Amino acid sequence: MKNIAILGSTGSIGRNGLEVIQQVSGLKLFGISGHRRLDLLESQVQKYSPAMVVASDQELASSYNFPRSEVIRYTEGKSGLKELASHPEVDTVLAAIVGRAGLESTWSAIEAGKTVALANKETLVLAGAQVMKMAQESNATILPVDSEHSAVFQALQTGQPKEINRIILTASGGPFRNLNSEQLKSVTVEQALSHPNWDMGQKITIDSATMMNKALEIIEARWLFGLEPDQIDVVIHPQSIIHSMVEFDDSSVVAQLSPPDMKLPIQYALTYPDRILGPAPRLDFSQAISLELEPPDLDRFPALELGFEVARQGGTTGAVLNAANEMAVSAFLQQKISFNDIVTACREILNQHEFETNPSLEQLISIDLWARKEISKWIA
Ligand code: NAD
Ligand code: MG
Repeated sequence: MKNIAILGSTGSIGRNGLEVIQQVSGLKLFGISGHRRLDLLESQVQKYSPAMVVASDQELASSYNFPRSEVIRYTEGKSGLKELASHPEVDTVLAAIVGRAGLESTWSAIEAGKTVALANKETLVLAGAQVMKMAQESNATILPVDSEHSAVFQALQTGQPKEINRIILTASGGPFRNLNSEQLKSVTVEQALSHPNWDMGQKITIDSATMMNKALEIIEARWLFGLEPDQIDVVIHPQSIIHSMVEFDDSSVVAQLSPPDMKLPIQYALTYPDRILGPAPRLDFSQAISLELEPPDLDRFPALELGFEVARQGGTTGAVLNAANEMAVSAFLQQKISFNDIVTACREILNQHEFETNPSLEQLISIDLWARKEISKWIA
C-alpha cells in the first residue's frame, strides 16, 4: 500500500486524484488539504476518511466548525500543509495546489525525500533549478502529472536520456486557436473560460487560452528533464489525444496517446512504475479519429516566446514571469484588464526586472513579491 497525501484536494486535479486513489488497488489516502471551499473539504473527509486534514486558509478555518474526531487530525494554515507534505507516514505527495501558493508545501515534500506527483508546475517555473537541486540532495523523486510531461516521461522509457534529440510538447491551442489578432483583443472572460477539451481550474484555463500554459510547460520541461531550451518544440494538436512526443537521435518519434482526461497522468504518477487497471477512459478505435498537427503562430500567441526566453535565461526570470502572469490572470478574471494585456503586462515586468543568475530561494520569494507590486501599478 502506498500512502498518498493530496495538497489541494478540492481542486480539479485533487478531485480527480481522489477518484484515482479510490479506484486503483495499492493506493491509500492519508491526507488532504483545501483552502476556501471548506464545505467541499468536509464532504471529502466524510467520503474518504483521511487520517489528516488541512484547512490551509487560516482565517476561514478558524471560523469553520469541523466535526471533532478521535481518528482524524485537523490542522490549519501553511504549517499544516508542510506537516502533511513531510509526514513520515506519507509515501507520495500529489502536489495539486495552484500557483505560487504551492511552493512551500511542495518544497517540504521534496526536502523530506518524498515521491512527488507534481501538478503544481508553477513551483518549477518559479524555482526550477533550486527544486531540482533539492530533489537530488534529499533523494526525492519528482514524477510529472502535467499530461504533456507525463507523455514525455512515458516516451522516454523507450530510449536513454543521452539519445534524446528533442521533445515536442503538444498544445490544443485553446478556445481562441482560430481567432485573428483583432478578434483576440475583445474576447470575454466567459469565452476564455470555456476550454474545448479540458475541464480545469480557472487559472490554468485562462493560461491555456493565452498559451501561457504552454510557456510555463516549456520551462517546466526544461527543468524536469534537464533539457537545453532548443531541444523543446511546441506543436498545435487540437484534439488533445497525442499528449506529447520525444524524438530520439535516430529520428524515431515516440508519442503517448489517450483521451483528454487527467486521471491517467495522475494515476501513472501514483502507481509508477506499475500500470494498473484504473478509471481513465480508453480510446475508441471503432470510431474514426483524426489527429491534426500544425505549427503554432507566435505572432498571435506571443506568450510562447516568453516561455522560450525564460527557459534560456533561467535565474530570476521564471519567478518574475510566474508572478506577473498570476496577477494579470486574476486582473483579467476581475475584468480590470483585457485578454491581450495579460501577456503584454508579463513582458513589461520581465523587461523591468533586475536579473540575477543564481538566486537563492529567499531571493526568488522576494522577487515574486516585487513583480506582484510592479504589476499592480501597471494594472492601476
Ligand atoms: P484548481 O483551481 O481547480 O484547484 C486549486 C487547489 O489549490 C484547490 O484545492 C485550492 O483549495 C488550492 N489552493 C488555492 N489557493 C491556495 C492557497 N493560497 N493555499 C493553499 N491551497 C490553495 O486548480 P487545478 O486546475 O486543479 O490546478 C492545480 C495545479 O495543477 C495547477 O498548478 C495547474 O497548473 C496544474 N495542472 C492542472 C491540470 C488540470 O487539468 N486541472 C492539468 C495540468 C496541470
Ligand atoms: Mg499540460
